[in-house]
Amino acid sequence: MKIICIGRNYAKHIEELENEKPENPVVFLKPDSAILPKKMPFFIPPFSSNIHYEVEVLVKINKVGKYIAPKFAHKYYETVGLGIDFTARDLQAKCKEKGLPWEKAKAFDGSAVVGDFFPKEDFDINNTTFQLHKNGDIVQDGNTQSMLWKVDELISYVSQFFTLKKGDIIFTGTPAGVGKVEENDVLTGTINGKQAFQIKIK
Ligand code: MG
Repeated sequence: MKIICIGRNYAKHIEELENEKPENPVVFLKPDSAILPKKMPFFIPPFSSNIHYEVEVLVKINKVGKYIAPKFAHKYYETVGLGIDFTARDLQAKCKEKGLPWEKAKAFDGSAVVGDFFPKEDFDINNTTFQLHKNGDIVQDGNTQSMLWKVDELISYVSQFFTLKKGDIIFTGTPAGVGKVEENDVLTGTINGKQAFQIKIK
């Protein structure tokens, strides 16, 4: 399986990182080795001193698809989840400065938290609230209605480049409020009021 991630999909997050609003979705991949095993803590890697959390809504692809039209995209997922796109912001800044790929900053081991998935019938995918709580305080509070590109548009867009396969996961971008993790932090993700994951930072 592969993980396809979308960057810069919420205007307020683009502003907080002083990025330009893209003409098309920003797309990058994480390998399956990036998935943090269930119930494992996240260990801050030695190559970064500025790991950021980015809470994101996830969709899990349920069948093979290529060149999927937006109006048919809803047929390609049955479950919606929540996860974290951990980012080594210091390494990413160096990569961006030199115009280099982001993989070392985005796709390292443990960088993809994949929480629980729920049936898509539980959601209005274009109006779903989700939160990241750090040590009990809400640090990110998003709603999918603020996405620049909606889930179905993202599925359509990425399927032009990558054949989607059953089990692939799309990370749909993070809202504003990203920040640094510290040892002993506890990160809890909620979507539609339900807890999808809880991660300890070590
Ligand atoms: Mg992200």
